Amino acid sequence: MINIAIDGPSGAGKSTIAKIVAKTLGITYLDTGAMYRAVALHVINCGKNPSVVEEVTPLLNDINISYIKVNDENQICLNDNNVSEDIRRHEMSKYASEVSKIPAVRLFLVDMQRKIAQSTDVVLDGRDITSYVLPDAKYKFYLTAKDTERAKRRFEELQAKGQKVSYEQILADVRDRDFNDMNRDFAPLKKTDDSFEIDSTDMTLQQVVDTILAKVDEINKKEKLSQIKDINTSVNKQIKNNRKKTKHGWFYKGIANFVRWAMGALWITKIYFKDNFPKNSKAVVICNHYSALDPCVIISKLLGKNGKVVMKNEVTQNSFVAKVAKELGGISVKRGEADVNAVKSILGALNKNQPVLIFPEGTRNKQNTKELLPFKQGVATFAIKAKAPIVPMLYYKKTGIFKRNKLMVGAPFWLDEFYDKKIGDVREEATQVIFDKMQDLRKEIDILVEVCKGSKKRYLKYKKNQSKEICANVGEGR
Ligand code: C5P
Repeated sequence: MINIAIDGPSGAGKSTIAKIVAKTLGITYLDTGAMYRAVALHVINCGKNPSVVEEVTPLLNDINISYIKVNDENQICLNDNNVSEDIRRHEMSKYASEVSKIPAVRLFLVDMQRKIAQSTDVVLDGRDITSYVLPDAKYKFYLTAKDTERAKRRFEELQAKGQKVSYEQILADVRDRDFNDMNRDFAPLKKTDDSFEIDSTDMTLQQVVDTILAKVDEINKKEKLSQIKDINTSVNKQIKNNRKKTKHGWFYKGIANFVRWAMGALWITKIYFKDNFPKNSKAVVICNHYSALDPCVIISKLLGKNGKVVMKNEVTQNSFVAKVAKELGGISVKRGEADVNAVKSILGALNKNQPVLIFPEGTRNKQNTKELLPFKQGVATFAIKAKAPIVPMLYYKKTGIFKRNKLMVGAPFWLDEFYDKKIGDVREEATQVIFDKMQDLRKEIDILVEVCKGSKKRYLKYKKNQSKEICANVGEGR
C-alpha cells in the first residue's frame, strides 16, 4: 500500500497540499483532523464539555464516522450526516484540539485510520501520523510554516467563507493549538527524525506539492537502487559461496584423485583383455563382487574420471565419504526400493555416454564361492532403456588387498533383441541372457587362470587350438 504521511501544525497547508498530492497520484486523501473535528462536533451537539474526559469518553460508542464522495471528494459523515461544513466552523478547531488530548478519543480514531491505511493507497495528514499512526510509512513529511503566516492563511480562508474573525484572535488560537498539540501527553505533534521537513512560509502551494512529489520519487528511486544493491549482494554472496564450494570441490577432487591412485596401487590386479573395455562410450559395466574394494581397480584403471559406480547408500551415510564417493563417480542407490533418483542418474549418465559400473548380484558374495549369486534385473533395464552395450567382467576368485587379483574383461554385448519389446515383459529373459554371458566368462577365466596359468599368450593359443579342433571336428563330420 502507498501511505504518504504528512504531519504539521495547524494552518501549515497540510490538507490543501495533501489533497493535491493524492489527486496527482490518483490515491485517496484522508483528513484525520476532520475526524477529531467530527468527534468534537458530536460532543458539542450532545451538550457535553469537550475537555472533560468523563463526558467525552462514553459518547464514543455513539459515533459512527463514514465518508461519501461529493464532486470526486471524500466528505465526512457523522452518524450518516454529512458534517463537512459544520466541522469547519472556527470554534470547532479549538474543540477538536480539546478532544484530541483524550487518549480514548485518539485510540478510537487511530484504529480507524490504521485500518484505512492498511487497505487503501492513501495520503493522510494530521499531527501524529508519522510518529504514532503509521511510524513505518515509507513517505513521511513534516509540513510547517511560521505561526504568523499560518494565522494569516487561516484568517484569509475564514474571511473568504464569510466568517467574522480577527487576525489577532486567529493568531492566538493558532499558538494555543500549537501548544496543545505539541505538549499533550499522548502522541503529541513532533517532527520524527525520518520525516522530510518542508517550511512553506515562503513557498507557493505548487512549490510545496512539487517538493513532496519529488521526494516521493527520490525515495522510490532509492528503494529501487537498494533493491538492486540487495540483488547484487545476494548474487555476490552466491558467487562467493559457489567459489567456496568450488574450493571445497577441489579439496574433494584432490582426495578422490589420491584414492583413485591408491586403489589402483593397493588393489593389485591383473586385468585381462582390457581392450574389450569400450573407450568414451556409454556402457553398463558388470562384475562379480567379493569385497567392498572391488570397484577400486575398475574405477582406477578402467572407468576413468568420466565413469560412474552404483553404490549402496549405506556407504555414503558419512558426508565426507559421500563427497569423495561423488567425486569418484558414485551414484548412491537405496536398495530394496524404487529409487527414482538413482534410476534417473544412471540413465542420465548412460545417455551422456558415460560408463556405469553395476554389480548385478546386488550384494557381495560373502561365501566367496566362484558361483554367481542370482542377478537383480536393473542391469537389463538400464542396458535396454539406454541401448547401451553391457561389458561383462569377472574376478577369478575372492579378491583382496595385496593379493594378485585377476580380472577378465569380456567382449561387450547388446540386448538389441529386446529393444522393441516392453521392458516389463522381457526383463527376466534379458537378465538370464546377461547371467549366461557371465557364466561363459566364468569358464573363460577358469581356463585362463587354471589351464593357461594366467598367461594371456597361452590362453590365446589355447583358444586358437580349440577353434582348430572344432573346425577339424566339423570337417570330420562332413
Ligand atoms: O488539522 P485540523 O486543524 O483540522 O485538526 C483539528 C485538530 O485535531 C488539531 O488541532 C489537532 O489538535 C487535532 N488532530 C490531532 N491529530 C491528528 C489530526 C488532528 O490531534 N492526526
